[in-house]
Amino acid sequence: MSRQFPAKRLGVLMVVSGPSGSGKTTLCRKLADLGEVVYSISATTRAPRQGEAHGRDYYFFSEEEFLDNVQRGEFFEHARVHGNLYGTLKTYVKQNLERGIDVVMDIDVQGAAQVRACADELVQRCLVDVFIMPPTVEALRERLAGRGTESEEKLSLRLQNALTEIEHWHEYQYALVSDTRELDLDRFRGLLLAERMRVERLLD
Ligand code: 5GP
Repeated sequence: MSRQFPAKRLGVLMVVSGPSGSGKTTLCRKLADLGEVVYSISATTRAPRQGEAHGRDYYFFSEEEFLDNVQRGEFFEHARVHGNLYGTLKTYVKQNLERGIDVVMDIDVQGAAQVRACADELVQRCLVDVFIMPPTVEALRERLAGRGTESEEKLSLRLQNALTEIEHWHEYQYALVSDTRELDLDRFRGLLLAERMRVERLLD
């Protein structure tokens, strides 16, 4: 009789934070494009940017819709970031982890703290948190300006928020200081491949 070792594996829950301009969204999306993970699509009350689509980049909710979901306990975590609400819907994440499918969540430091504090045993077993940061303040400023989607006022708010957010890097298990996009993706993928071998997520 053939028996498989291990019989089952739980998914890795990669919680990724970092300031805007750190390249974390691109990194998370690329890992999903490679078919290595599923990307957790967040809900938000912010307006779509040019080219963004509902259900692909975000679920764009009205403030009322969002708060209604909060009331019904649909969110795994949620937070106000840059004046808008953002949150992760619970069901999708947990279902994938149970099936052994790795999930990547691109969320801010407040959201990551909520996930870390979550009492759910499955979540705690699967959780791996990573902070992505730029190598220097200058690099961060350049990347934020390069995006060109925001007014001067919004840009300076984002830079200020980014610097405050960076102060939280030591709360994470892993810190990835960004280099080239290729190198970042290699290291990020390497981390996922290693975490897949963690015994605590393998079941008999
Ligand atoms: P953006 O509006 O530029 O797409 O995202 C702004 C910030 O919100 C980023 O730091 C991003 O990681 C964070 N964010 C996106 N989705 C979520 C979410 O579901 N929960 C939390 N807490 N933060 C999120």
